[in-house]
Formats: sequence, structure tokens, C-alpha cells
Amino acid sequence: MEQSRRNEYLEAMGIEQWVCRDLASAPVALPGAGTAAPALAPACDTGNAVEERAEVSALEWPELESRVACCTRCVLHETRTRTVFGTGNRAADWLIIGEAPGADEDRQGEPFVGRAGQLLTAMLAAIGCRREEVYITNILKCRPPGNRDPLPAEIDCCHDYLERQIELVAPGLVLVVGRIAAHNLLQTDLPIGRLRGRVHRFGKAGIPLVVTYHPAYLLRSPLEKRKSWEDLQLAQRVHRGL
Ligand code: URA
Repeated sequence: MEQSRRNEYLEAMGIEQWVCRDLASAPVALPGAGTAAPALAPACDTGNAVEERAEVSALEWPELESRVACCTRCVLHETRTRTVFGTGNRAADWLIIGEAPGADEDRQGEPFVGRAGQLLTAMLAAIGCRREEVYITNILKCRPPGNRDPLPAEIDCCHDYLERQIELVAPGLVLVVGRIAAHNLLQTDLPIGRLRGRVHRFGKAGIPLVVTYHPAYLLRSPLEKRKSWEDLQLAQRVHRGL
């Protein structure tokens, strides 16, 4: 159907369309012109917040990803370079959830690509798992300036995006890295030392969830790597049903 016609129908039905303003007005790249992707995330109309949230729970991957790319729900959209949606196998057995993008992730639009990410990749390799095999995301999709801790309101704004990602991946195991992600997913404030080393259950499906230290913490405290290694082995045993 012709686009303008479709727009008329959608408008008449009161259905709001999700068009990235900046993308819609961006010049069309000519083949071979070498135009880079816009460095700044597009700003979109967010519409009615309640309806919007109900709708997120029904989105499929492409729409969910564009919705996140256009998100202006919290102030972090003002300072981000790119949103960081998630990466890897969308039908993975393992889902890895971290805290929030850092400077490297914000630049590249991919989670865990900086030094901490390299350590995470190495930790996965140590249990025979390639990064591409798992799905990796964060509780926040935008970088908090100066890498400060995410605020509860910011986590809340991203919550249904993550919830939908978890539903779509439908993993056999969730590995949570770091205190902040663990506290939010498990709704507790117990110290991470008491959350790691055991198996939790997540959501209605009771997905096994294992907590371990954040790789950025392990870079600062390398003696704790042994415990993380034990956590990964625990996760592997749980996943194998041992
Ligand atoms: N730390 C995180 O928690 N996530 C990233 O993507 C990068 C660093």
C-alpha cells in the first residue's frame, strides 16, 4: 500500500506511528557516497506512556529495537551517542544481563565491547562458549553520564524493554553480572557476595538465574576472578541439568 495512504488509515484509526524524526528527515544515503550512520540517536514522539508500555510487551525484535533506538523516556537520551540494545543470538540458551553501557558501548552501540567486555568474552571462552552464541544486554539501554550508577527512575524506564527481550530470547539460563543488575532483577539489596554462588529463579517461568561479579569489578579485584569462575561453572552445570 502506498505510504501516504497507509498513514491516512493509521491516523483515522488513532494509531500512532513510530517515526524517528531525525531519520525521517535525514538525507538518503547515495550508494557509494560513504555516508556514516547518524552519530546521535534519533528523537521520536513517545506518545501516551501507558499505552506505549502495554504495546512494548507485544513487539517483535525489529520493532522493539527501533523503539529503543528512538526512546526519549528519560534524560539519558539527551547525552547518549547511541542506544545499546543488545547483541548475539536472539534464540540463545544463555542470556547475559549487565548494568549499563559505558563510553565504548555508547560509541559503538554494542554492549560489553570495552575492557570489561573483553574480560567477559574471555570468561565465556573459558567455559567453551563463544560470545556470538549467547545474547548480551543491559538493564539500561543508554549510558549514564560519567558512568554513574543508574537511577531507579532510569531503570524503570527501560524495564519493559528488558522484560520483552527476556521473553523473546526465552533463555534456559540467565547470567547476571554485577550488583546493580542483580539487585534490580532479583528485587533485593543483599550484598552480591550473598547472591552469587547459588541458583535463583526468575519470572513466571522460573528461569534459573546465576549472579556473578561484574567484569569491571574483576579488573579492579583480580583475586575475585576465581569466584566468578566458580559461578560460571555453576551456571554451566545448571544449564546442563546436572
Ligand atoms: N558494563 C556493563 O554493565 N555493560 C556494558 O555493556 C559495558 C560495561
